[in-house]
Amino acid sequence: MKIGFIGLGIMGSPMVKNLLKAGHEILAYDIVAARIEAAATAGAEAAISVSEVARQCKLIITMLPNGPEVEEVVLGTGGLLEAAQAGAVLVDMSSIAPDIAQKIHAACAEKGVAMLDAPVSGGEPKAIDGTLSIMVGGCEAVFHQVYDILMAMGASTVYCGGIGAGNTAKLANQIIVALNIAAVCEAFTLSTRAGVAPDKVFAAIRGGLAGSTVMNAKVPMILDDNFNPGFKLALHIKDLTNALHTGHALGISLPFTAQITEIMHLLSAQGLDQKDHCIIAKYYEDLTGTEIRG
Ligand code: NAD
Repeated sequence: MKIGFIGLGIMGSPMVKNLLKAGHEILAYDIVAARIEAAATAGAEAAISVSEVARQCKLIITMLPNGPEVEEVVLGTGGLLEAAQAGAVLVDMSSIAPDIAQKIHAACAEKGVAMLDAPVSGGEPKAIDGTLSIMVGGCEAVFHQVYDILMAMGASTVYCGGIGAGNTAKLANQIIVALNIAAVCEAFTLSTRAGVAPDKVFAAIRGGLAGSTVMNAKVPMILDDNFNPGFKLALHIKDLTNALHTGHALGISLPFTAQITEIMHLLSAQGLDQKDHCIIAKYYEDLTGTEIRG
């Protein structure tokens, strides 16, 4: 079965390569022509439009920046639903607000198209290795149909519940990652200012209770002054904005999420929103006049 794949950016491009490696035939599309060419060089077939993907493929994966782009690609003029075959399955792997996933799912259902929301965690390195954590919402029977295909891109694929549940799990993930980066930066600012070398602190604490995947991934980047994305600050602001929107709709307050979102907005206003999200280190460095470097 030919799989349509739309959105060939930092994540989509290596995910396509892993699907190809697993023996799947891929029809690839992006609004940036160079990204389609790169996917074609890797062995995918190049699509000329979203409609072509909808006409040719019964399984379509989208990996787009946010809800508005997914809505445009699926519901817009010339979008997937205009040309999709009844019985087709859409797996949206973008990180979007759960209520937008539910809205798109309802429109798909009217056309006889099934939809799962299946965002991922792990970032570019795990997209390249094919070891993403994939969290899935939607119809459980459809989840079982596509499980093996998702596992070509991931180390774990977990069914979380009805449509939107995948993105709800992802919002929880994004709150934890953001606050973990902030905690690491705040703590390393303190220890560096006190005169203890950050590489020594890293080596001393990474195996203890404070150690984390975030610490292992981000501290070496900060020490190397390497803020190349990775995961762009702009995308993390988007995810936390979706988390705050979801929290407010549920009638709950997310005070630390609000605070780190504002810190990220400050960095964005300084022109840093295309940097990796560990640029949060710069906020603490400016605040304290202390550079965290190796
Ligand atoms: P990206 O910006 O690198 O890629 C998005 C791609 O979508 C781009 O190639 C863009 O041209 C394409 N696109 C945008 N609008 C389009 C449209 N209308 N039609 C077709 N293509 C369109 O982003 P990314 O880092 O690959 O992230 C994709 C999703 O995965 C986001 O929701 C992000 O939050 C999530 N995510 C990213 C990471 C990461 O580390 N980068 C990790 C986990 C989850």
